[in-house]
Amino acid sequence: MTEMVAIIPDAVRRAVQAQRAAMRTLFDQLRQDGLDEPGISRDPYGDGEQRAHATVTRAARAMGLEIGHDDAANLYMTLPGRDRSAPALVIGSHLDSVPHGGNYDGAAGVLAGLATVAALRDLAVTPACDIVVMGIRAEESVWFQVSYIGSRGSLGMLPDGALDVRRVDTGRTLAEHIAACGGNPDALLAGRRHFDPARLRAYMELHIEQAPSLVEAGQPVALCTAIPGNFRYPYAWIEGSNDHVGLPKRFRRDAAIAGAEFAMALDALWEEHEAEGIPMACTLGRFHTDATQHGMTIVPGRFDFSLDVRAYDPAVLAALEQRVAAIVAGIEQRRGVRFHLGTKAHAAVGPADPAIKAGLERAARAQGLTPTWIGSPASHDGAAFAAAGVPIGMIFVRNENGSHNPMEKMTIEDFLEGTGVLTQWVIDYAG
Ligand SMILES: [Zn+2]
Repeated sequence: MTEMVAIIPDAVRRAVQAQRAAMRTLFDQLRQDGLDEPGISRDPYGDGEQRAHATVTRAARAMGLEIGHDDAANLYMTLPGRDRSAPALVIGSHLDSVPHGGNYDGAAGVLAGLATVAALRDLAVTPACDIVVMGIRAEESVWFQVSYIGSRGSLGMLPDGALDVRRVDTGRTLAEHIAACGGNPDALLAGRRHFDPARLRAYMELHIEQAPSLVEAGQPVALCTAIPGNFRYPYAWIEGSNDHVGLPKRFRRDAAIAGAEFAMALDALWEEHEAEGIPMACTLGRFHTDATQHGMTIVPGRFDFSLDVRAYDPAVLAALEQRVAAIVAGIEQRRGVRFHLGTKAHAAVGPADPAIKAGLERAARAQGLTPTWIGSPASHDGAAFAAAGVPIGMIFVRNENGSHNPMEKMTIEDFLEGTGVLTQWVIDYAG
């Protein structure tokens, strides 16, 4: 077998480009598997995701990869390395989707892993360690309202109570769904894990970009600085007082106006960060008066909202939490209302590993690309691996029309550019 260091970037590029027809066929098959007009639905631990797993497994078998599963029914497709006991390199993404989503969110990363392994094969290269392509279960939190189920399951890090959560459409528990797909919820409950994080060399994920910055920049590929951390209040509300529409201002405790002031203060906070070039985002996903009590001639006494605040630096995130608390205290004092923020959910920032970032930058240059850096707009399984202490990296591929909708649009050319960077990096890193 060839020494990896001897492979020139041009040969890598040709080997990746040679996967075009096979990858196109696989993407088409996945689209057929998940068709649920408009768009596709790969429901996690359900028929849609099962069909995607079957298709990807068939392709991996045809490539001669070792096939395995864990207690969370994640799929592992392994190219054996020279030293089978060395910490493995995982290339993964998820095979589920949101309802009526696009074909590329998640699937592109799994197929990029397969294309990389196929290119290594064509280059007659045996990597130093096992390369494990992972088809991750249930990443989309819309179904079970729990994030990173498959990846955290593989690491023995499922949150307490997750297995009892019911899928919003079927009403069946996560444990039931996992068992129906050949997994072992009892072992997960006991904390049994597939991966020992200390025995993983790195986790790498290619994913479509879910914002238009690469379209705007005219670049096919970007490298990831970090996966955002967040704090969230899913069920917050403001308590004011329901009063007559004629009540003078000084007597009012108007919950809706308090909510509006809160929204504008958050927007100003974001603008302030934007002006300083500090990336963050805040979203009031639910924002409404109480439909059972509101009316044109009633001062609103209750206002409900959800809040998601995300940033890419733990210090920025911590400072934002304090700023939000100060905004709340100010509005409470000025308007005589009370904020009930409710339960807080929290996810740590998943920074990309500095050595992996440097390696990806070299790989991108070797493949003739100008390295472009972006913070991931969305959450990804890599954050779960980062939280477990595994070095992570991500590659984003240009994608028009956003994501989580049927209009997602990634070209096979851009996909192969991203896969070229991935393959070059694997050869440099695991050679
Ligand atoms: Zn995704």
